[in-house]
Amino acid sequence: MPDRIAWFATCALLFGSSLTGCMATVKTAQLVLTDTERTIRERDEDDPPNSPSQMPILFLAFDGVNRDLLYEMLNEGQLPKLTDLLSGEGKNFPHAYFDETLLSTMPSSTMAAWTTVITGVPPGQHGVSGNEFFIREEKRLAAPAPVSFIDSKPTIEIYTDEYLNKLVKVPTVYEKMRAREPNILIWVAIHQLYTGADRLLFATRTVMAHALEEGLVKVAKTATLQGEKPDRRKFAMLDNDVIAKVQDALGDVDDDEPVPDVLTVYLTGTDLYAHVAEEGPDDARRAYLRDIADPAIGALAAKLREHDALRDRWIVLTSDHGHTPVRHDEKHALWTEDENSPPALMTKAGYHLRPFKEKVDADTSFDAVLCEGGAVAFIYLADRSSCSPKGGCDWQKPPRYEADVLPLAEAFYKNNSDGELAPRLKGTLDLILTRRPKPHAEDDLPFEVYVGNGQTMPLGEYLQQHPHPTYIETEARLRDLAVGFRGERAGDIMLIAHNGDREIADERYYFASPYRSWHGSPSKQDSEIPLIVANPRFDAQQIRGRVKRVLGTTPRQQKVADLLLDLRSQPRKSD
Ligand SMILES: [Zn+2]
Repeated sequence: MPDRIAWFATCALLFGSSLTGCMATVKTAQLVLTDTERTIRERDEDDPPNSPSQMPILFLAFDGVNRDLLYEMLNEGQLPKLTDLLSGEGKNFPHAYFDETLLSTMPSSTMAAWTTVITGVPPGQHGVSGNEFFIREEKRLAAPAPVSFIDSKPTIEIYTDEYLNKLVKVPTVYEKMRAREPNILIWVAIHQLYTGADRLLFATRTVMAHALEEGLVKVAKTATLQGEKPDRRKFAMLDNDVIAKVQDALGDVDDDEPVPDVLTVYLTGTDLYAHVAEEGPDDARRAYLRDIADPAIGALAAKLREHDALRDRWIVLTSDHGHTPVRHDEKHALWTEDENSPPALMTKAGYHLRPFKEKVDADTSFDAVLCEGGAVAFIYLADRSSCSPKGGCDWQKPPRYEADVLPLAEAFYKNNSDGELAPRLKGTLDLILTRRPKPHAEDDLPFEVYVGNGQTMPLGEYLQQHPHPTYIETEARLRDLAVGFRGERAGDIMLIAHNGDREIADERYYFASPYRSWHGSPSKQDSEIPLIVANPRFDAQQIRGRVKRVLGTTPRQQKVADLLLDLRSQPRKSD
């Protein structure tokens, strides 16, 4: 740790001149180091360096890009470099299939979605139910991307300390590929989950901290925003830095280093910038894709071409979720720091909340945990009869349905119509979901809709009686989230705010600090994601048949892992 004065000098250099700005970035500034890659797996010298018998893959993961938006831009010729990579010309893509059916997981948010893509199983099985969630058997908060509090440390630890890798206890698509091909060479550039890869490439931590601060801290503090626009260059720097790292790692053509059989490249700027951009998420993402992502993809493609590594490589492009504009103010942001927030209601209803930070002292006593995630929030409850002032609560046990869960569901339900406990929360909730709790090691039940007076109704039946035309596959996707070995990670109560069911931003609410755009809901806008599969060796019809066969009748995000495995099973043809 540098001393105070030196620290402020460093901080001012990195994060601009204001002292208060520096105070806000204490947590990230401590992480300023220069490592930008790690070898995850050491290979014996006698082992073959790669596995060239199967067709290689470039997996492009774009964060926060709606299907319509991306496809429109490609059709309009606004992304010439990406078009080129997909061997297309104008509106014509003879070697690419554009899927129109893939839906994001629920919640439609980053950590749940990408973990689903990379493991091939839904959240009820892999357990990463959101950007933050509670692991009751370990009495621990997992927050790979904190929402209910501001701290970019865990997000950076994803790359420096395998934060997400350690949370996921099911095999990744990379591990499954390696089981079939022990010598496969896999590189992952900045994607959050990379167990089973050979090498992780990530941006300089200062650059990463910069981009996260721009989104997390600056915009959350409404007051400091006066006249200060979020700086798109900070996000661009992050993506450009990552592409440069991949280019560097690929090296010169005469180097002996083989090009990876599977290369995953993740671009985050689209999402980070869309959350905070004043011009709204659609304009922001269009401009970002055109001005920053497309040239970056061009640079990556040029490098791969230099190595003759695109000749028969599958290109698979997808995203994790869409975006929905919201109002950047305290009325619409149902954040934890506010008096009229869910924690205030829960406290008045007699529950004791876990403080909003990543780690709390072992002797901190709490019987309720709230995790936020844009359009949705999860609430975890203890069996309050197990709590003692000294020992806290026994979180190994599930809560009692009648004595612990229903009173809180009723408090939210009643407040939603009369606003008695938390006036500003009145009328903000679309659905209060709950179910009879099961011990954590057992399979969990699907959520039902709480309808007052201790009564619930099956979700499907409720949605039939109360149509939600903008929601899509709600029942099935919530089942993927809530039913399964790790289904309890979606909470004993799950709240869905009025957001994806509303036509205008003024009527949308979200569980987070003030932002300009969020996601997480079951709406089409948040859930319809792109999936493009291309290969110059196949025509679009052949690829379509192959993709359709794998996606089957339920085109969900977990199928992307199956698709990658299927594409990789294709033997290479000699020229
Ligand atoms: Zn996001």
